[in-house]
Formats: sequence, structure tokens, C-alpha cells
Amino acid sequence: MIRDIDPGLMRKISRHGRGGRLDVQSCFQCGNCTAVCPLAQDSSGFPRRVIRMAQVGMERELLASEDLWHCYACGECARTCPRGADPAEFMAAARSYVVARSDFTGLASLASRSAFGNLLVFSLFSLSFTLLLLSRSAPAPAGLPFFTFVPGEWVHRIGIFLFAVVGLSLFSGLFATVLRFWAERRRQGVPLRFAALPAAVVSAVVEALAHQRFRQCGHEEPPPAPQLWYRQPWVVHASVMGGFLAMLLATTLDYLLKPIGSPVPPSYPMRLLGAVGGLVCLFGLAIMIFAPQSNAEMHWRRRTFADWFFPVLLACTVLTGLATEILVYLPVTAASQVLFLTHVVLAMDLVAMLPLTRFAHVVYRPLALALFAWRHAPDPRTAAAEA
Ligand code: SF4
Ligand code: SF4
Repeated sequence: MIRDIDPGLMRKISRHGRGGRLDVQSCFQCGNCTAVCPLAQDSSGFPRRVIRMAQVGMERELLASEDLWHCYACGECARTCPRGADPAEFMAAARSYVVARSDFTGLASLASRSAFGNLLVFSLFSLSFTLLLLSRSAPAPAGLPFFTFVPGEWVHRIGIFLFAVVGLSLFSGLFATVLRFWAERRRQGVPLRFAALPAAVVSAVVEALAHQRFRQCGHEEPPPAPQLWYRQPWVVHASVMGGFLAMLLATTLDYLLKPIGSPVPPSYPMRLLGAVGGLVCLFGLAIMIFAPQSNAEMHWRRRTFADWFFPVLLACTVLTGLATEILVYLPVTAASQVLFLTHVVLAMDLVAMLPLTRFAHVVYRPLALALFAWRHAPDPRTAAAEA
């Protein structure tokens, strides 16, 4: 059988890691990363197998591999690789490569390949949103509410447009992933039963919410020094994700249930939900950024600008959002209006850059988990025959 081989595949992926300086060619396939990875199952060869695909140029297989999205970037494999090949960074770079391949604008590739490109895309978005909002604002005499300076109607219009574009972009990327997965399994002769799909989706949702597999990370031998529960990587990750989802829900419900800019008391349920979600998210981000302790977090700390960018952007958005929630009950000043404008622009940047950065894993990972569970669903006929 003739395969499509791309000899330059590893070079292309390496451009997405360590500012283009990632070197995984030194990997000699010893299998140590598979032995130490807490998520490697039976004889799957995870994550070594994906590295091999890149080394020999099997792009089609790599793009169709859901393995990439299982990795929680805990860093265990990088810590113990005898060749210093940094398989954890390779997995992150390969995920960026897959995301960039689905983005026809080229912005994802630009944003993920260098700090300069990342900042350039961020600046372009920020400037566009700021100019657009200011061009629609009325003069803001002292004492008028926030939404005179930053027009609420336009905040919502741009927000809906952004969600539509980003949703479409993510959907096309996810759809392409499913098609590649399907074509590759058919080519390999792996049977897929539609009857097993609902259970696979449920197990993926449970895993995405409960982090059962992530809890296995960091349990290497010999056991690490005792770690406070709230500093465990999966707790930090769950705080950031849970807080983010709570804020997203609060914003959506606020938009649906209340007229734009109408005053509400601090005890208004959506406002409370957003504030609690923001604090939980901020707690996780603070530990992630300022207090790394475990091997996993130490590894994270050594990582690239692309890893730092999104948590810092999220933290700035949450902080300006929480400050706005307080300032909205005080007399409006020029400073508070500038802060509100900053918050709105950062929130729009966050949505616009979601499909372009490493944070895209929040949507790709649940899909990969579902495809993995689907592929490994036991066939009842085989089980009955064995019985
Ligand atoms: S990445 Fe490192 S640990 Fe993994 S197979 Fe290659 S050399 Fe071995
Ligand atoms: S970073 Fe962690 S989860 Fe990812 S492959 Fe390495 S050991 Fe496994």
C-alpha cells in the first residue's frame, strides 16, 4: 500500500513549539514516555506513537489521531525523557499544528508560531474592537451610566457576530476531525458501532467535567512530596474551567433575561453567579501562574509564551470584569468607563482568539475523548462469544 508521506512534517510541527526551536528528532523511541504517562493504556503506545507518526511524515494518521487531545500537558514524560526530547511540548505543538491546519485565515498559524505573531494578532483584534466601539459611542458626560460610553447594543451585536464566526470556525475544525477519524478507522478496518456512540459521548462529558483521567496525573513513582489538595493540577485545571463556564453561563443568561444596561442589585442571581465563577477562575489562574509546585506545574512554568498568553489574557479579563461589577454601583467616572471598555475589548479578544490558540483544546478534547471511547467500546457480540 502506498502511503502519503510528508518528510517535512516534523519540521512543520516543530515551528509550533518553543518559538520554533522544538527538537523531537532526538527521540529514539525508547518508550519511556509511554511507561511513565499516567494516561497511557495497555499497548496503545501513547504518546510515543504520535511522535513516530511525525518522525516518519504520516500526516494523515497524525491529523486523525485523537491521542493528541488526551494529553493533559502534565509534563511527566518530559521530566523523564532520556533524550530531553520534551514529548509534552511536542504534543502541545502538534495540537497547535492541527488547529492551524483547520484555520483558512492563517491567523492561528501566525498566533501559535511566535510571541510576536501572537501579540500581533492580539493587537489587531484589540484595536479593531476598540475603534469599532468608540466609533459607535456617544459623548460621555459625567454621571451617565457605563453604556453611554460603551454602547450596550453594539457590545451585544459584536458579541453575537463573534460567537457565530468562532462557532462556525470551531465547528468546521471539529467536523474535519470527525471525518478524518472516520476515514482512518475505515482504512484500518476498525469496526465502529453507532449503538455505542451515545455511551461514548456520555463518558466524554463525564470525563471533561470530573477530570477522572487528569486525577491520575502526577502520581508517579516515587511519590512526590505531599501536596495541598487545592494545588493539585487537576483541581487547578477544574477551577479555571469551571469558573470560566460559570461566567459564560451568567453572561448568556444576563443577555437573555434582562434589558441591556438595566440596573440590578448585587444579589441578582446572574451577577452572583458571574462573581463566584470569576473568583473560582481567578483562584485557579493565580496558582497556575504564581505558585507552581508539582513537577507538572514546574514543567508548565518552563513552557512557552503561547502557554502563558491565554491564562494571562483570561486573568486580565476576569479582573477587569470583577472590578466593573463593583464600579457599576459607584458614580461613573472617566476612569471607570475606560476600565469597562478595556474589559469589553479583552472579553472580545478572548472569544476571537479561542480557536487560534492552545486554548482550543477546550472544545477539541471532549470530542477526542468521545471518539476514543467510541473506538474502544466493547462489542457485545464479541463479549457474548467469549462468554
Ligand atoms: S520522547 Fe523521549 S521518552 Fe519518549 S520515546 Fe522518545 S526518547 Fe523515549
Ligand atoms: S504530558 Fe502528561 S499526559 Fe501528556 S503525554 Fe506526557 S505524561 Fe502523558
